[in-house]
Amino acid sequence: MAKSFIAMYFAIMHATTLTTSTTPANYHIVYSRRRSLAIVVSNGQVTVRAPLGCNIKHIQQLVSDKQHWITRHLQRQQTVTPLLVWQQRGTILFKGKPLPVTFSRGSKSDVNFTAAGLDICVSRRVQDVAITGWQNTLLARWLLEQATAHFTEPLQAWSKIMAVSYHEIKFGQWRRRWGYCDNNGVIGLNWQLVMAPEWVSDYVIVHELAHRLFMDHSSAFWQVVSHYIPNYPQAQAWLSFYQPQLLSRQ
Ligand SMILES: [Zn+2]
Repeated sequence: MAKSFIAMYFAIMHATTLTTSTTPANYHIVYSRRRSLAIVVSNGQVTVRAPLGCNIKHIQQLVSDKQHWITRHLQRQQTVTPLLVWQQRGTILFKGKPLPVTFSRGSKSDVNFTAAGLDICVSRRVQDVAITGWQNTLLARWLLEQATAHFTEPLQAWSKIMAVSYHEIKFGQWRRRWGYCDNNGVIGLNWQLVMAPEWVSDYVIVHELAHRLFMDHSSAFWQVVSHYIPNYPQAQAWLSFYQPQLLSRQ
């Protein structure tokens, strides 16, 4: 997710946070042992960093004076946010099936998985312009948790079936690969694979484990893969067909 951070410092305060709803901008004030006032615009959030005991009127005046600057940076951060297709669709793929997604605001940011689907709840403290960014982050975090829970055992199981060892499993997010296997036996899996059906993620796991026997894509390598996953061309086709949808999530 694109993150931007911009700060503006002014000459003039460990840390108490409070939220104000003073117009024209919603902002947090963080008091600390510092000597200057600063306005920070990050992830669509406006924070004023202030010295301990700084008069609220000074802060309000500063925010009011710098409103134009704040608005400009909030807008800039909003325009760099990519089109969020999954939010528009109202569904994500989860283990190969469409999972309805609803959105809510609450006292705390959280993801709730129920029989009805997934509810992405963003804290009311988050400003409107930052909601989509938070929804993205929350969904990504949830998918990573699911991937960890859903892929660790199958990898161990396939490793036993294929009689090949691996050193450890790592999860990541890459645009152009679903997994990797390095010379040290580290297996990397793209956690976005948790959106694919099991027969597809099994193919990726077997593919990476087969690299423990052959570190290339030779015919001997594909023989191993096809021995365990005879329909692997369909799994490859599934991945190339759905890749844009999976990657458009962020
Ligand atoms: Zn490969």
